This record gives sequence, C-alpha cells and structure tokens, in this order.
Amino acid sequence: MTTDRTLHLHRHLHDRHRGVLPDWLSLYYDEPIEITHGEGRHVWDAEGRRYLDFFGGILTTMTAHALPEVTKAVTEQAGRIIHTSTLYLNRPMVELAERIAALSGIPDARVFFTTSGTEANDTALLLATAYRRSSQVLAMRNSYHGRSFSAVSVTGNRAWTTTGDSGLHTLYVHGAVRGRGPFAHLNDADFTAACVADLEDLIGHTGDIAALIAEPVQGVGGFTAPPDGLYAAFREVLNRHGILWISDEVQTGWGRTGDHFWGWQAHAASGPPDILTFAKGIGNGMSIGGVVARAEVMNCLNANSISTFGGSPVTMAAGLANLSYLLEHDLQGNARRVGGLLIERLRAIGAGIDRVREVRGRGLMIGVELADPATGAADPGAAAAVLEAAREQGLLIGKGGGHDTSVLRVAPPLSLTVAEAEEGAALLEQALRVLR
Ligand code: PLP
Repeated sequence: MTTDRTLHLHRHLHDRHRGVLPDWLSLYYDEPIEITHGEGRHVWDAEGRRYLDFFGGILTTMTAHALPEVTKAVTEQAGRIIHTSTLYLNRPMVELAERIAALSGIPDARVFFTTSGTEANDTALLLATAYRRSSQVLAMRNSYHGRSFSAVSVTGNRAWTTTGDSGLHTLYVHGAVRGRGPFAHLNDADFTAACVADLEDLIGHTGDIAALIAEPVQGVGGFTAPPDGLYAAFREVLNRHGILWISDEVQTGWGRTGDHFWGWQAHAASGPPDILTFAKGIGNGMSIGGVVARAEVMNCLNANSISTFGGSPVTMAAGLANLSYLLEHDLQGNARRVGGLLIERLRAIGAGIDRVREVRGRGLMIGVELADPATGAADPGAAAAVLEAAREQGLLIGKGGGHDTSVLRVAPPLSLTVAEAEEGAALLEQALRVLR
C-alpha cells in the first residue's frame, strides 16, 4: 500500500539520483520509475502502480518475477554459504556447468562463469586472440557486446564506442541489418551472397584474424535478424581461414527466440560456434554470465585465472533452479506459441499506423520499428513518446535500434500467457495512438 511517507521517499529518491549517478547512465523515462517488487509478469513501482513487464527487466527475468522455485533455491543456498570464489569447487557451479556444456552443442565443452555478458565477451575475445595469436577481430555493424573496453571495441554502434584504443583491431562486416546499407534492396539469397563476398574481400585484404563475434539476432541494435543460414555461409569462409566464430547469445539464449534454444541454431548448417557467450536470462535476474568453448580453445590461456564472483554458489543455485523450470515447463515452446500470436497481433496493429515501418522478430523477441512515413528516416522521438505513453498505460517495454533508438523492443518473461499477450498488445495499441 502506498502511504504519504513512501511517496515522499520516492520523490526524494528521484531528486537524489541526479546528484550521484553518472549522466551517461541509461535511465528510461523522463521521471525514472523506482521498482519495488514483482510477481509473474508484473512489477510494482514505489507509488503502488502495477505494470505488465514486456521487457523482463532487460531480458533478464527469463521465467517470471519472484518465481518460488528460484527464490527457494537462493534462500536455501544463502543459508548454507553465499560465497567461496573459484579457488574452491561448489556443487551448484559444477552441476550448472555440466548442464550448459551438454546444452551448448559444442563438443568437449568447457564452461567458465563470469558475472555479466560484458565480462563473458571480454573472456571470449581474450581466448580467441590468445588461441589465434592475433589481435584483429571481425564484428558486425550495428552490434552491441557490452561496456568494457574490449566489448566496446567490437560494438558497431557509435552511441557506445569511445575514442580510446583497447589494443583490438576491429573490422566491421555487413550482414546483420537488412533494412539499410548498400545491400538493402536484395532478396535473402542475394543479400547473403553479397555479405559473404564482402567478408571474403575484407579477409583477403588483412592479416590473420582471430575471430568473428556476432549476435544471432541483434538485441540493443533493434531485434534485427539476418536471413537464416547467413552465419552458416560465413562459417564456411571463416573455417577456411581458421577464424573462430563467437556467438554472443546474451539475448538470444535459453529459448528466447522460440524456434531454437540458441540463436546460432537458425544457422544450423554451420554447426555450433567455437565460442558461445551467455548471460542475462539464465539467472532470472541473478548476475550470471559465462563462456563455453571446446577444451582446446578454453585451455589455451596459461595464466592461473580466477573470477572472484563468477560461479558463486547463490547465483549458480538460482541458475540451476531457473534452467530446470524453463526446460520442465517448455518455456521455449511457450515463447514460440505465445510469441507467434503476439507478433501477428502487433503486425495487425502496426498495419494501421503509418509510422510503424516494420514489426519483426522471433519468439518473444519482437521489435516494432518506427520511421517517418514521408522520408523513411528513423524516428527516435516517436519511440521515446510511445515508451512514455505505454508507461502511462501500465506497460513497460524497451527501445533500441543502434544509432537512433527508433525500435520498440518487446521481450517479456517466457512464461507470458495468451491473456497477458493480448492485454499487452491492447495497451501498446493505446500507447501508439500518440503517433496519430
Ligand atoms: N551482449 C549482448 C548481445 C547484450 O545485449 C548485452 C547487454 O545488453 C551484453 C552483451 C552485455 O551484457 P551485460 O550488460 O550483462 O554486461
């Protein structure tokens, strides 16, 4: 219940954050929301308002808010021991590693746990550059791989990059975004062929390259997916040159895309990646990231390495409980079914609004791209206005879209019900009225 006192504290917090948090911190909304608790697919703010969470935290609440199974696992483990560090073994870490190794599809897989997606990609780049003895890497245009120096150095999006030199030499490749660029007019097969030719040309003009890092569906970049099979065609070229493929599954892992457990499986002819990175949804909000690679690649680091908080027992217990729940309840199948209904509904809504350029996605990873109907130019102002209007309706969504943040992102927990999908679509339809 909201009292005058909680309201007062909440307002006070709003004023205070400006004095202590960095200006570059991404806080959604003109008046940031203070979330106090959640249940299922809903969260509540400090003023007692309930929201349908169509962004799942930030694709982190994979199963549901306050899932009893995860809460129980965390509480029980915390009562035994919270932390030990990777200097010692703990049972949940080994069990979770076994399960992820088996699910990864990577032969003779080894798993190293980190505490974030950024750190996972950092580790993957460390492994690839050490294994290949080259600091040249390939990355996709419009990509996002995290906030560390090396992750920013493979992020093909000027909103995130810096002018500093991380020591990595990155070349950016065409292929992840269909809607723009010199190949925009081509059909899937010709687009793939053009991107492959571009890749061959790029590799032909440079020295040894360690790896290509790519998101199977770009997340922050606006839920854009290349044609199925594009990375399989890339893989053939990479293999010929001994270049490793790092699949960044931070957003696409664990069944989020509905048809597949991992995003790379949409390009299945290419087989599993050499290195797979994960984070976000596995902990249902607990800080778990990690890297999977075959032993030969994983073991190429000769340092005596440790992650102080990676593999911490409480987070590992949460990951195990969460993974068990999502597999036992076939949440991937639910993402496919409910996501399929939701995308159809959003397409029908979008068809009546000329500022909606495209509704795209897979499973419960759906992007609604907004653009000026006269010029076709991306419309970040429209996306910001819809986000605010959705909040007024009691709906939380995300936004993204590379340089211009003109894409609304819909990524609810994978346990979303049909009724909630319909409710959320109706709320979004109301919010989109600000564009009329
Ligand atoms: N990789 C991808 C594809 C992401 O979307 C993100 C975060 O949004 C990251 C890496 C970085 O993960 P984290 O924020 O956990 O460091």
